[in-house]
Amino acid sequence: MKRKLVGIGASPGIAVGTVQLLRWEVPDVPHRIIADEQIPAEQQRFLDAIEKAKERLRQIKVRVEKSAGPQEAAIFEVQLSILEDPDLVRGVQELINQNIAAERAFDIQMIESRQRFARAASPMVRERVSDLTDVHIRGLSLLMDLHDHAPEDVRKVPNTILVTHDLTPSLTVQLDRKSIVAIATDAGTRTSHVAILARSLNLPAIVGLRTATDELKGGEHAILDGSTGVLAIEPSHSDVESYRERARQEAVAEEELRRLASLEAITSDGVHVTLRANVDLPEEADLAASSGAEGVGLMRTEFLVLGRATMPDEEEQYRAYRRVVEAFGGKPVVIRTFDIGGDKLPVGGFPTEPNPFLGWRAIRMCLDQPDLFRTQLRALLRAAAHGDVRIMLPLVVTLDEVRQARALLDGAARQLEQRGIPARRDVPLGVMIETPAAAVAADTFTRDHDVQFFSIGTNDLVQYTLAVDRGNANLTSRFTPLHPAVLRLIQRTVQVGDSAGLEVAVCGEMASQPLMAFALIGLGVRQLSVSPRSVSLVKRIVRGISVAMAEEAATAALNAPTAERARRELHMRLQTALPELGLLEEGLTV
Ligand code: PEP
Ligand code: MG
Repeated sequence: MKRKLVGIGASPGIAVGTVQLLRWEVPDVPHRIIADEQIPAEQQRFLDAIEKAKERLRQIKVRVEKSAGPQEAAIFEVQLSILEDPDLVRGVQELINQNIAAERAFDIQMIESRQRFARAASPMVRERVSDLTDVHIRGLSLLMDLHDHAPEDVRKVPNTILVTHDLTPSLTVQLDRKSIVAIATDAGTRTSHVAILARSLNLPAIVGLRTATDELKGGEHAILDGSTGVLAIEPSHSDVESYRERARQEAVAEEELRRLASLEAITSDGVHVTLRANVDLPEEADLAASSGAEGVGLMRTEFLVLGRATMPDEEEQYRAYRRVVEAFGGKPVVIRTFDIGGDKLPVGGFPTEPNPFLGWRAIRMCLDQPDLFRTQLRALLRAAAHGDVRIMLPLVVTLDEVRQARALLDGAARQLEQRGIPARRDVPLGVMIETPAAAVAADTFTRDHDVQFFSIGTNDLVQYTLAVDRGNANLTSRFTPLHPAVLRLIQRTVQVGDSAGLEVAVCGEMASQPLMAFALIGLGVRQLSVSPRSVSLVKRIVRGISVAMAEEAATAALNAPTAERARRELHMRLQTALPELGLLEEGLTV
């Protein structure tokens, strides 16, 4: 092979295809001055580009209307109206008349509009900034002939390995997923949401490549290995053959693991560990149900919203939740209320914030928008009439938030009762422990029986405890769930939960990785919620260890001064118990 780019394996699987670059970012525009006699032609070039951009938007709108419905397509109507704005057109024309080239004139005008909108007092106006950005990129790609800036061109090449800086929701909705066999991004980490989404879509993916969009030209033949994080460029015939062989071996190993699906997750000393699945999209429910999972430990409902222009209404949400509940035929299904914000924004977004992960996110946003929240709560209570639904609140830091949510939940139940709509009232309410505040003060949630269960979200718990951005590829080696502070917070949460008689689950990515699952069982966790593909693997770990051994390993890890020492303590013991488990390698990194 000519070259090998190494990033973070984010979604397993091997794909062979052609690299297609997509630069969905505003390009640098040189300040080009034109002669007086060029002005009329330049004016025409600008008007032609605007026409072409509008034509493209109309085509995308029709396609999205068919694939996702009219509400989703509405976003492109907004973008069309931006291009039709006479002030914008006049502003650009005036600049061209002052001898500025069309692309630069358009660039100046769009930068100014974006700044004006971003400063607006009304959130409704600020929400439009991302539409302006999309229009800015689209217009410049046409005026500067930048083919790699056009999402709609991706569909023209079959077996596309899509290489892009980051996969934003506004980009995702425009892509024709049928031609894409794998995704590679410069940004992101295993726990960032592009990685989670790729796993849900079952697309092999590598994130955190940092410079792939600079190093590649597009059109290269490549192999993407989503387990090892290797993107092999221009592979030789024998490289392709050996990857095909690896893919065959992986398929055999997966088949073997699948056979475990019907077996119980019980340790060699007879302790049952409940293994549930994380479900991000309702379409995943059947796969998750056949994985051997004993229910759903986390359904991320915000994936119903990502990539969309509008919030789904009560009926649509009810149908989505009911679909998951019915796929699990009576087994518990823990559904988390919207965790929107951070890096999970709908198209059009909410106002950009300087610190989105410390900002208006998750339960904070829901409590501040009670109508939006009530709609979701009603849909959840209605879905609960069809099975064992439990409601979970994300990013809780104080009991006040739980009480406010409880009041809204009671209100939603009353509304349904008044309307005579079938629903269940007594749905258990749990909180996610994903901040140091929630873990340290976990006892405050248990006093008045406000909370019925805990679920530890280690992706955020690690991020907030260690002050390490979970999505920053430069910080991957510092994102260490085995850091003593994280292990102590998990241990504390388990102790508080146990003494109050509450179930304590772990639903972050940590639970899906063999070495970490071993540590968690040793810390006393008896419920793990993992990606559907990891259920069998974690079951294999559970069946191969004893609680006594896991406890000894966890104690050693807790006493270790660093994450690396903790890893070694755990590794040594797990390898003794399960020497043959080659698949462990994936989970050996801290
Ligand atoms: C977590 O933070 O660990 C978690 C499960 O939630 P999310 O990854 O969706 O933030
Ligand atoms: Mg979280």
